[in-house]
Amino acid sequence: MKASLPLSPLFRPAALAVLLAALAACGGNPDTAAKDAAQDSPGHADGDDHADEDGAPEQTTIPAARAKAAGIVSAVAGPGTIADEHDVQGLLAPIDGRMAQVTARFPGPIRALRANVGDRVRAGQPLASIDSNLSLTTYGISAPISGVVLSRQAQVGGVAGEGQLLFEIGDLSQLWVDLHIFGADTQHITAGVPVTVTRMTDGVSQATTLERVLPGTATASQSTVARATVDNADGLWRPGAAVRARIVVASTPADIVVPLTALQSMDGRDVVFVREGETYQARPVALGARDARQVAVSAGLQAGEEVVVEQSYTVKADIGKAGAGHEH
Ligand SMILES: [Zn+2]
Repeated sequence: MKASLPLSPLFRPAALAVLLAALAACGGNPDTAAKDAAQDSPGHADGDDHADEDGAPEQTTIPAARAKAAGIVSAVAGPGTIADEHDVQGLLAPIDGRMAQVTARFPGPIRALRANVGDRVRAGQPLASIDSNLSLTTYGISAPISGVVLSRQAQVGGVAGEGQLLFEIGDLSQLWVDLHIFGADTQHITAGVPVTVTRMTDGVSQATTLERVLPGTATASQSTVARATVDNADGLWRPGAAVRARIVVASTPADIVVPLTALQSMDGRDVVFVREGETYQARPVALGARDARQVAVSAGLQAGEEVVVEQSYTVKADIGKAGAGHEH
């Protein structure tokens, strides 16, 4: 079978049975393992397919119909991109300098308060009237910045002291997202890399850029804080809320990549299974960088060759069965 990358995982009971049989035998006698696997094997053309370990390739033959029934899928290996992705957590915070406190200038009775918590106010909008005990006149206080009233700290009819806090206003149209980075990651996560920030509450994501990595280390968590800014047009990014974020440090092009599901280990070597018709050959490969889904192949595989990308374990088990008569 031929398919293009990437592939969605398939669930095939027949293949699972082989897999379970092989797994169950993993800790036991290798001869028993091979025989167990043989009983449910998708098909095998005897030991003459199997080559010795003096350098010749190990391979097996699986008829197309049985390969299909076992869920064995192959795909052409070719160029791709390996991402260096870091999934981190963080907190939303108001941006420094975008918070304002509204205070009484002169002491005296509070005549009126004209905003409540949650109200959006504009810079210059009147917020309070206070009778000054000093001048015996009424003076007004207006909002110093545009934003949202975060708290109201006084009551009408109360007496304000000089400098008493009346309101706190925050401009929450943008927020900082402080992401916590640990250990060696702090060495190569730098400003300028793309970040996708996701709200925990509803899964809504926003793409932004890492602006800076703060110089200190958070003492309690021993983490370094990397900071980005998110737009808060919908008002649902809330200061104090936790977020998830994915930082992509680098996307490295590679001439040949295969999905991680193509990889198996045989005799302590990394192998993939190259398909030609109904023949599956174990091919030792040298591996390069990998991400959560795929790995670069630096040697052992040519672009354009077809590699088993699903149920590679089934192919491995079949080759193992072929080699049951050999001493390994
Ligand atoms: Zn990294």
